[in-house]
Amino acid sequence: MTSMSRRARLLAALRANLACRGRLGLGRVVGTPAELERLAAALLPRPPRESLESIRRRMGQCERCPLAADRRHIVFGQGPEPAAIMLIGEAPGAEEDRQGLPFVGPAGKLLNRMLAAVGLRREEVYITNIVKCRPPGNRDPRPEEAAACRPFLEAQIRAVAPRVICTLGRPAAQALLGTKAPISTLRGRWHRVLGVPLLPTFHPAFLLRSPERKREAYQDLKAVARALEGKERLD
Ligand code: SF4
Repeated sequence: MTSMSRRARLLAALRANLACRGRLGLGRVVGTPAELERLAAALLPRPPRESLESIRRRMGQCERCPLAADRRHIVFGQGPEPAAIMLIGEAPGAEEDRQGLPFVGPAGKLLNRMLAAVGLRREEVYITNIVKCRPPGNRDPRPEEAAACRPFLEAQIRAVAPRVICTLGRPAAQALLGTKAPISTLRGRWHRVLGVPLLPTFHPAFLLRSPERKREAYQDLKAVARALEGKERLD
C-alpha cells in the first residue's frame, strides 16, 4: 500500500469516526480538515527524507505518464534546499519546457514582482509544479498524470521542508488538496498537506489575463509573508 493511499484511508477513518461521535452525541475531539490532516501526519510513519539531487536522479528520463511523449525537458524545480516557502504551480509551459526551468516566461516575471512587493525574493523560494512535463497545448494536467508525478512532488516537499506551501492556480490546489472545489473558495484560506500549512492563490498566468484579481493574490502572498513571521493564524 502506498503512503498516499494510507493517508487517504486514515483520513476517511478519522472522518467516519468523527461523524459517528457526532451522531452518538459524544462531541468532537478534532473536526476541521486542517486538524484531521495534522492528526494523520502525526499518526502515519514518515518516509525517509531524500535529497533533491537524489530525487532528480531517481526520476531519470521518467516515462511514468503520457506527458513524457511530447516534452523537451523535465522541469524538476528550482530553489534552495531547504527553503522556508515552496510555490507549486500546475505544469511547465512552452518557455519552461524549452529552458528546463520553472516560471521563466511572462508569468514568472510577474511572480517575481509580486514576491518582491511583499518582501520575498525568488532566490529564497523553492518553485515547482505538480507535473514536471509540459501538457500538450498547455492544457491542465489530467488527474492520472498528477497522480503519477505525485510521489516525486511529495519527496520534494519532504526534501525542501518548507514552513509554508503556496499553490498557484486551481489545478495545483485541487490536486494537492484532493478536492474539486473552485479556486475562489480554496484561495485565501489555510489548508494542510503532509502536515505543512498550505495557502492556495491564483496562478500568475491567470493574473496576466485578469489583472483585476491581482489585489487578492497580493493579499494571499502577504499572508504567506506574515506566516513566516509567526503573525498569521494557520487554521
Ligand atoms: S509528468 Fe512526472 S510522471 Fe509524467 S513523465 Fe513527467 S516526470 Fe514522469
